[in-house]
Amino acid sequence: MNLIVQKFGGTSVRDAQRILNVARIITDTYQKGNNVVAVVSAQGDTTDDLIAKAMEINEHASKREMDVLLSTGEQISMSLLAMAIEKMGFPVISLTGWQAGFLTDSTHGAARIRRIHKERVDNELSKRNIVIIAGFQGMNRYDDITTLGRGGSDTSAVALAAALHADLCQIYTDVDGVYTADPRLVPEAHKMDEITYDEMLELATLGAGVLHNRSVEMAKKYNVNLEVLSSLTQNPGTKIKEVVKVEKMLIRGVARDNDVARISILGVPDLPGIAFKIFSRLAAKKVNVDIILQSIGRDDTKDISFTISRAHKEEALAVMEAINEQFGGKGVICDDNISKVSIVGAGMQSNPGVASKMFEALSEANINIQMISTSEIKISVLVALSDSDKAVNVIHDAFDL
Ligand code: ASP
Ligand code: MG
Repeated sequence: MNLIVQKFGGTSVRDAQRILNVARIITDTYQKGNNVVAVVSAQGDTTDDLIAKAMEINEHASKREMDVLLSTGEQISMSLLAMAIEKMGFPVISLTGWQAGFLTDSTHGAARIRRIHKERVDNELSKRNIVIIAGFQGMNRYDDITTLGRGGSDTSAVALAAALHADLCQIYTDVDGVYTADPRLVPEAHKMDEITYDEMLELATLGAGVLHNRSVEMAKKYNVNLEVLSSLTQNPGTKIKEVVKVEKMLIRGVARDNDVARISILGVPDLPGIAFKIFSRLAAKKVNVDIILQSIGRDDTKDISFTISRAHKEEALAVMEAINEQFGGKGVICDDNISKVSIVGAGMQSNPGVASKMFEALSEANINIQMISTSEIKISVLVALSDSDKAVNVIHDAFDL
């Protein structure tokens, strides 16, 4: 008997009708002789609404209490879905993250899964129950509720699929797969049948929005058979795997991320240890740094710029102001009217000229590049926010995606 883990995102369980639709997908899978574990997100905008409710009461609520609150969204979905399946006459049980054995670290709001004690789930499956599990949540070793960070239900599902050695992990969402660019932005974008873990990881990290990047990391690490598909259509989705059958494409897709702020510190002494001081202090504040650029100026000074998520702007600015003070720098500036646009593809490793083609497309569109960062399978550029849509389109065009 095959075991299939199915994850349903917020839009897939938005209202009663959608929940009934999901119940049908699950029971169809079950009736074909599979064991089914379904992981659910909170309905529609529930998580955002809960955050807004908290803000009305305490703008500085502790992360612990935020987790207690936010974890309720997924519990609503799981129970409603179980009720729908009950009504259809199938054996079903819903479990919270902690009932399902998700043990996490104590980083409230961005917890990492340490291990999954899967006995309860295994036991329910052996009784041929359909198991519905609340995504996005777990418990730390002090029995406090934790959440995995926005979009974390994908990671719950993949972690569970890995722990249970599931044959397949299906991520049901409101798009029917992974596209070469956001179809709302680039009408010519098309769906990919297959993509490698590495490419998907870059796309997810760079803002494709379709999968939580940690879920892809985990899928790669544990070789989870992953598929992204829509709960609203019957179309085949996109399969994510180690190697793909189709001939290696040069470039897979274009992604963009507008949640970027750039911070620069100007004219600090060009001495060993400055970068270390900056980035260790940022790390201590758990600020994730993305692109880093250092440029050497005259008079033995240097400028260092880096990008972060906008949510960390204030914390990062405070760190940088202190450094600027300490080392007699010439000031700190911050710009958040920027966007990161990236191309991803395993094929670029062995093909020269990819970067120049991307830069040519941008130059022809008269778009200025503010920062560049590359890896073996991606190139990212920072552009003005107002150029972002156009940049995605001209690049998509240039590579004939
Ligand atoms: N409900 C959570 C969120 O909106 C987790 C998820 O949907 O994956 O971020
Ligand atoms: Mg999601």
